[in-house]
Amino acid sequence: MALTRVSLSCSARLLPSPLLQSLLRPFSSSTSPLRSSRRRSSPIAAAFSQASQSPHAVREGQVTEAPMPSSTRPWKPTCLYYTQGKCTMMNDAMHLEKFSHNLMMDLPVNALAADKVKPQKLDYLLILDLEGKVEILEFPVVMIDAQSMGFIDSFHRFVRPTVMNEQRITEYIEGKYGKFGVDRVWNDTAIPFKEVLQEFEDWIGNHNLWKKEQGGSLKSAAFVTCGNWDLKTKVPEQCKVSNIKLPTYFMEWINLKDIYLNFYSRRATGMTTMMRQLQMPTVGSHHLGIDDSKNIARVVQRMLADGAMMQITAKRQSATGDVKFLFKDRIM
Ligand SMILES: [Zn+2]
Repeated sequence: MALTRVSLSCSARLLPSPLLQSLLRPFSSSTSPLRSSRRRSSPIAAAFSQASQSPHAVREGQVTEAPMPSSTRPWKPTCLYYTQGKCTMMNDAMHLEKFSHNLMMDLPVNALAADKVKPQKLDYLLILDLEGKVEILEFPVVMIDAQSMGFIDSFHRFVRPTVMNEQRITEYIEGKYGKFGVDRVWNDTAIPFKEVLQEFEDWIGNHNLWKKEQGGSLKSAAFVTCGNWDLKTKVPEQCKVSNIKLPTYFMEWINLKDIYLNFYSRRATGMTTMMRQLQMPTVGSHHLGIDDSKNIARVVQRMLADGAMMQITAKRQSATGDVKFLFKDRIM
């Protein structure tokens, strides 16, 4: 049984109020000393970064409507310190007002829909949507129960490139995350891929999905990706760059596009196409990995409720490294 812990631990520290006052002062981000700092920030620096941004400046992605049954709850951007277990402002009412600290609210389950789910072979689905073309910049995973469709937990880390020089990283991050207003939280929190995987292994270990001593693939669980790129191409490439042996839990996965094609008998080349065809609104910022993972998780919930079976679509042979695809009809 996996733990049904909802969220990552988050140090809820109360800042002394004069300090808090000074932290909340408006200032220009371009003059912030934090901007050029590449070290992981202190909890206070993290609080500073988040508190200093207006909600509009923080996440100006393609916000549409919230997936709530009730229209009373306004959509809020998720606190990206919180998703990484690094929010220090859990006692700050203003901060809580501006940012969501509950991923479950973005993935509500309708009990009637959950009743329609067919018996699944897998217990848990780990929806993964990497960001970063040159090197991985973000590693977001949303875990849902395959049978009840309920949100169980998430694992989210921003990833600091291994071989790219500082100037290139700065340009890359400003270009990619600046438009969402989350380049500062990226700079405050990003850690190397090797450390991300160590923390991820602790996380899957805590959920009893994998044990380092035993190796092998995930137990009663599988990654779900939108396409084969994440696990066929990008993770092995990043492992080479980071000088890591490809972990055994990355050897098989579910390509949602193939499940979608075989279940609905229609092609969808990406997440937004699926959502358009299913008449589901996208939520959050497209190409912010944690938001895309939540949107893909919502597509998975919908497909489960429609009667789809989630099963492995690709396996990598450990001897040769070749990937074998298990479905005849698939998106090329
Ligand atoms: Zn927070």
